[in-house]
Amino acid sequence: MFNTRRRIKELLISDNVNFQTTVMGWVRTFRNNQFIALNDGSTNNNLQVVVELGSLEEATLKRITTGACIKAVGEIIPSLGKGQKVEMKATSIEILGDSDAEKFPLQPKKHSLEFLREIAHLRFRTNTFGAVFRVRHALAFAIHEFFNKKGFVYLHTPIVTASDAEGAGEMFRVTTLPLDGTAPKNDDGSINFKEDFFGRSTNLTVSGQLEGELAAMAFSDIYTFGPTFRAENSNTTRHLAEFWMIEPEMAFYDLEDNMNLAEAFIKHIIKYAMDNNREDLEFLAQRLEEEEKQKPQNERSEMGLMEKLEFVVNNDFERLTYTEAIDILKESNHNKKKKFQYPIEKWGTDLQSEHERYLVEKHFKKPVILTNYPKEIKAFYMRQNDDGTTVAAMDILAPGIGEIVGGSQREERLEKLTQRMEEMHIPTEELDWYLDTRRFGACPHAGFGLGFERIVQFVTGMGNIRDVIPFPRYPKSASF
Ligand code: ATP
Ligand code: MN
Repeated sequence: MFNTRRRIKELLISDNVNFQTTVMGWVRTFRNNQFIALNDGSTNNNLQVVVELGSLEEATLKRITTGACIKAVGEIIPSLGKGQKVEMKATSIEILGDSDAEKFPLQPKKHSLEFLREIAHLRFRTNTFGAVFRVRHALAFAIHEFFNKKGFVYLHTPIVTASDAEGAGEMFRVTTLPLDGTAPKNDDGSINFKEDFFGRSTNLTVSGQLEGELAAMAFSDIYTFGPTFRAENSNTTRHLAEFWMIEPEMAFYDLEDNMNLAEAFIKHIIKYAMDNNREDLEFLAQRLEEEEKQKPQNERSEMGLMEKLEFVVNNDFERLTYTEAIDILKESNHNKKKKFQYPIEKWGTDLQSEHERYLVEKHFKKPVILTNYPKEIKAFYMRQNDDGTTVAAMDILAPGIGEIVGGSQREERLEKLTQRMEEMHIPTEELDWYLDTRRFGACPHAGFGLGFERIVQFVTGMGNIRDVIPFPRYPKSASF
């Protein structure tokens, strides 16, 4: 058996000393031919491994370089140096993998996030990305824990689909037909997808919601947590072409139940990370504070990261209607002074991210849930309100990010639903399976979608969504 090692995190937090053990990890630094800072990814804190002078051959010493992988056996003893409780007095060091110090791109110094994105395969070995991806893991775990405790069924919805849940474009096509012009054609010259692998035109999913609704009509409460794809050409700090989405769908829920669940859910997962990843979050808070110092005073955020998370967990989200939000925006000095790129003129316009951020960051200074949007700017499946103009939608907006959740009560009335689909030119035949839920035992139900990377951004304070997913996919980039 090879793996007899102990994790560095465990050794550092324990009060146990004076015992023999084995550690393995990657060298961060090696000082004075004596002190190895060893990291195994369990924590940002390194274990100091002390090599007794003269105990190792010169040739081995030379191979202890930044980035090299080593196995160290020795005694854990109280540390004399400051900054750590314990250290290891090594009795043997074995090089598991060499790393040419001249060529290893990560030097023990500060690298820019842009540079690290270019070497995303190595950036896990930095403190920043170590912390980010451990927090990402914790949030994913907390999500499953939250729903599991409530009795929700985790549903795996398909990644290849023939439907577009939103009725919008922006999808990646999936095909095995040749692209060299020899694909089978119909009489009118269009591609004949009957000859394609699935016998029809297919694409990567943009949402698992429609399938989720079908399962909710049997299990009552389900959630999905999987990858979704959007071929939108948005080069923003909040959009990816491949991102992960959590989509709970609940029978017997109205809009208010939906909002209550979403708010409790967000608070729970943030709290989980604060309770279980405090060290990483404090590191990220420090990083953010330094980044903020580079900004002009008036652009700096008023709260530090920990303070912000604490605040979100302990305060109610502000709830208001789209109509109320439009009034606030229209009457704002910001609007009157023409400071919005898209001025708010009339009821009915879609809110841009600048408007969402104004409401959250300037006006309310807390997360906001907007409800009852005009039906024209929302999807066909949202439940129509009695006023005939709005739908029972809800978006949750977060400081620094904008929209993190989009949800609604669903239209369960078959006639209203098909009528809306016709108005929006959505082919009812193709979604006949979806309409069956309204034919056989329909019930009031609701759900929402949370963009996983957006919440990871929020919790870690990372400004760019490309830095919270291991290998980001965005326009003109699919490396690694
Ligand atoms: P936005 O207006 O920010 O583009 P959207 O209205 O397109 O969002 P929905 O279709 O409601 O978003 O998707 C549900 C959630 O998925 C959003 O609230 C957001 O958190 C997340 N999301 C949407 N598009 C992306 C994307 N391209 N990259 C990362 N997350 C996304
Ligand atoms: Mn979008």
